[in-house]
Amino acid sequence: MFLGDGMGVSTVTAARILKGQLHHSPGEETRLEMDKFPYVALSKTYNTNAQVPDSAGTATAYLCGVKANEGTVGVSAATQRTECNTTQGNEVTSILRWAKDAGKSVGIVTTTRVNHATPSAAYAHSADRDWYSDNEMPPEALSQGCKDIAYQLMHNVRDIEVIMGGGRKYMFPKNRTDVEYEMDEKARGTRLDGLNLIDIWKSFKPKHKHSHYIWNRTELLALDPYTVDYLLGLFEPGDMQYELNRNNVTDPSLSEMAEVAIKILSKNPKGFFLLVEGGRIDHGHHEGKAKQALHEAVEMDRAIGQAGTMTSVEDTLTVVTADHSHVFTFGGYTPRGNSIFVPPCAGLAPMVSDTDKKPFTAILYGNGPGYKVVGGERENVSMVDYAHNNYQAQSAVPLRHETHGGEDVAVFAKGPMAHLLHGVHEQNYIPHVMAYAACIGANRDHCASASLSGSPSPGPLLFLLALLPLAILF
Ligand SMILES: [Zn+2]
Repeated sequence: MFLGDGMGVSTVTAARILKGQLHHSPGEETRLEMDKFPYVALSKTYNTNAQVPDSAGTATAYLCGVKANEGTVGVSAATQRTECNTTQGNEVTSILRWAKDAGKSVGIVTTTRVNHATPSAAYAHSADRDWYSDNEMPPEALSQGCKDIAYQLMHNVRDIEVIMGGGRKYMFPKNRTDVEYEMDEKARGTRLDGLNLIDIWKSFKPKHKHSHYIWNRTELLALDPYTVDYLLGLFEPGDMQYELNRNNVTDPSLSEMAEVAIKILSKNPKGFFLLVEGGRIDHGHHEGKAKQALHEAVEMDRAIGQAGTMTSVEDTLTVVTADHSHVFTFGGYTPRGNSIFVPPCAGLAPMVSDTDKKPFTAILYGNGPGYKVVGGERENVSMVDYAHNNYQAQSAVPLRHETHGGEDVAVFAKGPMAHLLHGVHEQNYIPHVMAYAACIGANRDHCASASLSGSPSPGPLLFLLALLPLAILF
């Protein structure tokens, strides 16, 4: 499963054009890897208590199969955000757990912290997505016995084969110096309970298995995935760097992480479940930095292509979707091949506003930090470097953080049972399809009858063939 955090349809289209233009094409005709998938559906993303959702409630939907309240992970809608005492008894399990229970290998790869909202719904049950470590939890939640998400990552499902992303600081005791940023106080360990979760992770692995904790790209690329049983890679104290800012010595790309993950997981003859999150598409948009967001989306598409070369549609269902959209748009009657980012004239709509007589960029946000008024008027974008990696596109309403969007997102699917993702679905339908295809989870009775006859589904087919002469007779 590939999850583009905040990858609404407008983001997919703009990323497609950017991908083409990075290869010196006009862009519009380019095909993303996800564009090549034969089945597409729409996913209704709302949370039980929110029309415009967040990444926690949505992660619970597309990983655990139930819609939930915003801000909560791995719990049903009976749990209220921040209310620790509403957690117990309302935990829901994820497709990662269902796959593990069926003997498959499982993995999580993300560009955010590994204990961030999206991945955490795969293994944790928390009334608040922000409880990254005990340092971020209110005293009453701690006294009521709730555990932070990093702790749950190491304890709830103890044999996750692959965990990669950021979030190192949440694993170490308070004020422990970071291995990479020795001078940075914000990179130091956060844990009030004094635990070293890396040591705990190691202690839970069988002695005869090969377990590796790594923290940089060089170590990752030096591994022989075919001899690795368990891999924990934490490449940043917090979220990983944006792809455009990535340090090629210390930070692997999303596609590099996905490649190693699939090599490790696919050794299991029973198969695997892997969640790959392009987690910072969302962060780029929140900051109004469309260029960062779109390069994150292009990198996730590269990872999808990488996975496609390592798996077969004969035995692997691949689902690509987003948790929610953003108030990101592009328009303005731009001509064919209009470069999204390269100045001097591209990136702009071909005309000036007929109202304030100023040029405007094709990319805009409905709200966010790019709102700029200079001398009582909208800023003249031709006076600023709007192709800069960190340029904040203009928005209609000033907000420090641009918001999510409420419209449906796309679901792309290929492989066994991919046709079940076709039409308009509730977001929490998605993991049930994946579980149905994989013969795991609660509703797998259809597989038992098929396996009796030795192949995926000849039972009903043979039955129909047997009826055929009768149908002709009557
Ligand atoms: Zn977000």
